[in-house]
Amino acid sequence: MQSLKELYKIGNGPSSSHTMGPKRAVEIFKNKNLDADKFRIILYGSLALTGKGHLTDYIIEKTLQGYETEIEFDVETECTVHPNTFDIFAIKDNEVKSHWRVYSVGGGTFQIEGKKEVSFEEVYNEKSFNEIKKYCQENNCDLYDYVVKNEGEEIKEFLKEIWNSMKTTIRNGLTIDGMIPGKLNLDRRAKKLFETKIENETDSLKQNRLLSSYAYATNEENASGGIIVTAPTCGASGTLPAVLYCMKEKYELMDDQIIKALAVAGVIGNVIKTNASISGAECGCQAEVGTACSMAAAACTYLLGGNLQKIENAAEMGMEHHLGLTCDPIYGYVQIPCIERNAIAAMRAVESADLAMLLPEERKISFDVVVETMYETGQDLKSHYRETSEGGLAKKYCRNKFYNNEMNEIKV
Ligand code: SF4
Repeated sequence: MQSLKELYKIGNGPSSSHTMGPKRAVEIFKNKNLDADKFRIILYGSLALTGKGHLTDYIIEKTLQGYETEIEFDVETECTVHPNTFDIFAIKDNEVKSHWRVYSVGGGTFQIEGKKEVSFEEVYNEKSFNEIKKYCQENNCDLYDYVVKNEGEEIKEFLKEIWNSMKTTIRNGLTIDGMIPGKLNLDRRAKKLFETKIENETDSLKQNRLLSSYAYATNEENASGGIIVTAPTCGASGTLPAVLYCMKEKYELMDDQIIKALAVAGVIGNVIKTNASISGAECGCQAEVGTACSMAAAACTYLLGGNLQKIENAAEMGMEHHLGLTCDPIYGYVQIPCIERNAIAAMRAVESADLAMLLPEERKISFDVVVETMYETGQDLKSHYRETSEGGLAKKYCRNKFYNNEMNEIKV
């Protein structure tokens, strides 16, 4: 498995596979071809179908600022390797000087056909959760120790930076009123949820209100092109920070404890990324928000004092009850159903952790089995339900799948 640095990335929303991944790839390609006269990009699959709403063209143009740039949306060519595929050509003296075929595989990570990205180094020998569990049992360590042993002491600073960034995003999101960019004309809700005064509010209602407001805060920032952390993706960036923030406030935890929980969540996300997928275009929303819920459930159980088995059980529940979840963002914006869905997943993560703490440790379904199941289920989902905006809510809300120039108004 790769480093947690390849899982948690700080960057601009709204989509890790549609903005962050392409941006990183295009930046590296540009730096290798600084003497080009022009760049040509062809987007395929989900990038072509939802690239406008996800701001793919905007981020590519911004990255190639100063160069003539031509972007084509090819919705016809079938993607045989990965649904998020694009070609980038550097052109000099009217001839193609260099070409990459890039797969944006989710969470801001990308692969180049025929090449290996430098940062793709494997830092963990274990691949499945079972192997990790065995390692921890044999070495008498917990998941946080496991991360530090493999990544080195410097991972602590990295996780601290990630947690600080998550907190900043929540705090920013809680202070902003107004509309989210785009033609859905959605109001920001985080601040209102956070500030709402309810007479005789019960403890559980208060917890859910605050938890939801934190998730909305991050996802509204994401939908507005703000800075977020992929956890594991931009679209699913609100769930884990909301749960961590809520736990910190509720139990007055120190940042150091939250950073350890972030490492625990990272192990869960990494196992899913390695053995299945965190890409909505590949496996539907179960791979994004399902993974976020699983990560948050594991982190929450760790903070509640749960042992390795209880952490596994909570992570398994967090994913199991998202199996089959489709990805159908309206107009290709990461807004409906994404924002509210992160809040629901945050509440479900806390409930999964509570249940894992209450139930006996023996379970019929292991975390590894549910991860395998998620991947197979994702492969069985029709492409309509895998980030193409051609089915589900996206289809019902607006029958016209093609975008027009009005979409330019959302550029941030
Ligand atoms: S529906 Fe889920 S997978 Fe699809 S864009 Fe929204 S958050 Fe991502």
